Amino acid sequence: MLLVANWKAYVADLSKARTLLTVGNRIARTSGVALVLAPPAPLLGALALKQSRVAFAAQDVSAVTGGAATGEVTAAAYHTAGAEYAIVGHSERRAAGDTGPIIAEKVAHALANGLRPVLCVGEASRDEQGRYLVAVREQITTALLPLTHKERRQVIIAYEPRWAIGKHADQAISSSDLAEMVLYIRKVLAELLPGKSSQGMLVLYGGAVEPENIRTLAAGAGVDGFLVGHASVDAITFAALVKNLS
Ligand code: PGA
Repeated sequence: MLLVANWKAYVADLSKARTLLTVGNRIARTSGVALVLAPPAPLLGALALKQSRVAFAAQDVSAVTGGAATGEVTAAAYHTAGAEYAIVGHSERRAAGDTGPIIAEKVAHALANGLRPVLCVGEASRDEQGRYLVAVREQITTALLPLTHKERRQVIIAYEPRWAIGKHADQAISSSDLAEMVLYIRKVLAELLPGKSSQGMLVLYGGAVEPENIRTLAAGAGVDGFLVGHASVDAITFAALVKNLS
């Protein structure tokens, strides 16, 4: 199982960041869960300086690759700082203006600079007609179609329904609905890759994952792991999350 801890803008304090890393290193050793921490950029730079048992992810990468672009952090800069993954297309970035084509570019930049993209997809709401399925399909295909088959296989999909993000466990998706969605996503991936080559691709779930529901969501839904926001930025809750998953 893979657990990506998306710290968002919850953590700004270096000593808190170090505590979370210490907890991460301890539980990575004993739990068998692969941990990836996604701190804000300057904290990532500070934490990834030392060898550790966890890996690091950018929360986003710039759509530009360099040059006169004040404030942008390129995929190359993240790679230099020690990141191995990059979250791309998070709904909070989509809400801030990232369109499908911009996200496709970011995914390509991440791959070109040695970062494994964690592509976030998910509907804003559900409807009886199944339009949410079309929306998720479109998010995946827009990002993956420009890539080579080899590149497509590197992409990790994080299914994160927007209506569940930031909520509590009792408002998360049910495991049967999640199982259905994971099957659907795997079908879309199979259409984008010939033969059985999409089978090893990782599909994560995110949105209202807490220690209370992580085990149930992991059990029958066919996910390869989780992308966790608020529950990953408190040391005790973070440790409980990983314990309940392992
Ligand atoms: P949440 O956020 O765990 O706080 O719901 C998940 C995410 O947005 O990645």
